[in-house]
Amino acid sequence: MDPATIELAELDAVRVYALPMRNKFRGVTVRRGVLLSGPAGWGEFCPFEDYDDAQAVPWLKAALEACSEPWPEPVRTSIPVNCTVPAVGADKAYAIVAASGCRTAKVKVAEPGQDPGEDVERVAAVRDALGPGGAIRVDANAAWDVDAAVPRIRELDRAAGGLEYAEQPCPSVEELAAVRRQVDVRIAADESIRRAEDPLRVAVAGAADVAIIKATPLGGVRQALRVAEACGLPCVVSSAVETSIGLAAQLALAGALPELPFACGLGTMALLDGDVVADSLLPVDGHLPVLRRPPEPDPALVAAATPTADVQHYWLERLARVNALTRA
Ligand SMILES: [Mg+2]
Repeated sequence: MDPATIELAELDAVRVYALPMRNKFRGVTVRRGVLLSGPAGWGEFCPFEDYDDAQAVPWLKAALEACSEPWPEPVRTSIPVNCTVPAVGADKAYAIVAASGCRTAKVKVAEPGQDPGEDVERVAAVRDALGPGGAIRVDANAAWDVDAAVPRIRELDRAAGGLEYAEQPCPSVEELAAVRRQVDVRIAADESIRRAEDPLRVAVAGAADVAIIKATPLGGVRQALRVAEACGLPCVVSSAVETSIGLAAQLALAGALPELPFACGLGTMALLDGDVVADSLLPVDGHLPVLRRPPEPDPALVAAATPTADVQHYWLERLARVNALTRA
């Protein structure tokens, strides 16, 4: 079914928000978007500001899905999430993991300006903090070529005492496939998956063992479930740094996937300085709950997060343009 069954004019409320990021992310220091209220609850339309209107269409479909109908039945009630270790020194990395309560850590590697030895020390410190039972994944954000990726992944696998997977070691699907043939560590595709057709393309190319998927850029929970089934790869659900309203849709996806063998990348609320709901979706003991419907925004928090009239105007115009494209 087409998730955009509700007209924008039928919505009960439309609220623009802006929340500062605690640290710069994707060059962004303030996260902005629009909260939409419909008969099934609240949805969030928050395409990144460098996305054009066509790229924003699936984000609107995802938001309207949350407004117009209940999410699919979950098969689990709680989602394990990973903590994220940025390109920090070994002591800081140890402290982040020890404080997180998570049994899985995602460690940033291949940071420009750092040398490979720093990645090795960081990963070894994360293993110390997790103990033998925890899982370590590394994320290179497409920074390596094949010749660099193969020895780096092997070395990090040794330092970690076994990696769960290496995320997006290289930019292209062809390079991912080449690396995957040469290492024993699982390869996960993240940046290679942005559109609904991408996971199948990655799977067919033999480029990855794991697909990182997000409900929002794939067009909603139902569409993401179809994409996951079509590609046949184990999936890790990851956030697009939404407020708790958008995050609840990602958790609904993680809750409804038939198999969920790995922790998800949904512990991202702490990246925002604030929220629009009172009961923020922050992990407890490394887990987040699967909600049956989107949380309600808190009017005082929404008022506090309301940006200037200019910013509101920009987002309402963008929403109208993307809505017209969605219906075209
Ligand atoms: Mg990634």
